[in-house]
Amino acid sequence: MVKETYLGVDVSPLTYEGIISELQQKMARNEQSTIIAVNPEKVITANRDSQVKSLINESTFQIPDGVGVLLASKLKGGRITSRVTGVDMMGKLLDFAALEGHPVYFYGAKEEVVTKAISEIQKDRPQLKVAGYTNGYEKDESALVQRIHESGAKMLFVALGSPKQELWIKRNLANLPNVLVFQGVGGSFDVFSG
Ligand code: UDP
Repeated sequence: MVKETYLGVDVSPLTYEGIISELQQKMARNEQSTIIAVNPEKVITANRDSQVKSLINESTFQIPDGVGVLLASKLKGGRITSRVTGVDMMGKLLDFAALEGHPVYFYGAKEEVVTKAISEIQKDRPQLKVAGYTNGYEKDESALVQRIHESGAKMLFVALGSPKQELWIKRNLANLPNVLVFQGVGGSFDVFSG
């Protein structure tokens, strides 16, 4: 997939459907994918902090979550014509997981937020397989990784804020070989919890 680059930050010129279709092919090959949302704030941070820039550019999909990226693409004659927001991407991934029977794990946010988010998500997707959840204030990372590994999850949503969640995903990707889709979702559990 050819990326567009803004101030050194890569962005995937794909719609929700395009990303799901690529993910489906990667999952069939047992390949892991990471999804990160790019907005002007992150582009600015990336230009001050090379670690953040690498975190973004090493991701499989950098979704254009913000009108700034759309405008920049338009000015450059690029192919990004619509926003792909982190929270809507998560919703589409949940629909896809429910349809295909992929178990999902939710990690992050306060206990009452993550549990309420899951019950709201399941109201709309009764067939969704929830492999498990953990609030974002868990201290024992290796025990948590073991729990996620044993849960049978194929998709993991990490809601710790940026760049904490992306750093967590990078540290643990190799320890979770059966998880094929990782998305850092910031405050999305708060949004789903209503
Ligand atoms: N959070 C967490 N553990 C932490 C820090 C933050 O679970 O150690 C959660 C917090 O409860 C909130 C989310 O991470 O649900 C952060 O959302 P925010 O909107 O700040 O993230 P952004 O979208 O701005 O990256």
